[in-house]
Amino acid sequence: MRMKAPLCNVCLNSDILCMACKKKLDEGKITESDIKVSKVINEISKTFKPLKEVEIKKVIEGEKISVIVCRKGDGARLVGKDGVMIKKLSKLVEKPLRVVEESEDVREFIQNLVNPIPVIGLNIIYKPEKEVLKVIIPRGRKIPMSKGSFAEVVNLMFGKDSVVMNE
Ligand SMILES: [Zn+2]
Repeated sequence: MRMKAPLCNVCLNSDILCMACKKKLDEGKITESDIKVSKVINEISKTFKPLKEVEIKKVIEGEKISVIVCRKGDGARLVGKDGVMIKKLSKLVEKPLRVVEESEDVREFIQNLVNPIPVIGLNIIYKPEKEVLKVIIPRGRKIPMSKGSFAEVVNLMFGKDSVVMNE
């Protein structure tokens, strides 16, 4: 069993990129963050077997936090017991990381992103030039990242602007 990542298995274990992965990087299909985080996970998977089974879809690099988007069902392996694994990974990449399982469903993805805060409403605000997603969370609660990072991740995943508001 080998982990799957946005770059190929040869490149995961090499300091230079193969022609195919280099082309993906040049075309913006993968990013430096995809490469850096995938390599760290690959390295740890050599001693921590459950990580060998994960599939990393992409890594979204926010200003203060990066989000690892993984295959559905792989979240627990990457987070580890009591968050041990994700803390270790965060330390190695020198940035807070959050794991979110991929979903085509905007609401489900956003819920995964802000867990354990419940999303109690998701509305679309129609502005003249664009649509803005309005995410409503309970009064007095805060999402586990800055609102800027949240908006950045949602924009990178779905190409939409968003705001988080308390009910
Ligand atoms: Zn490659």
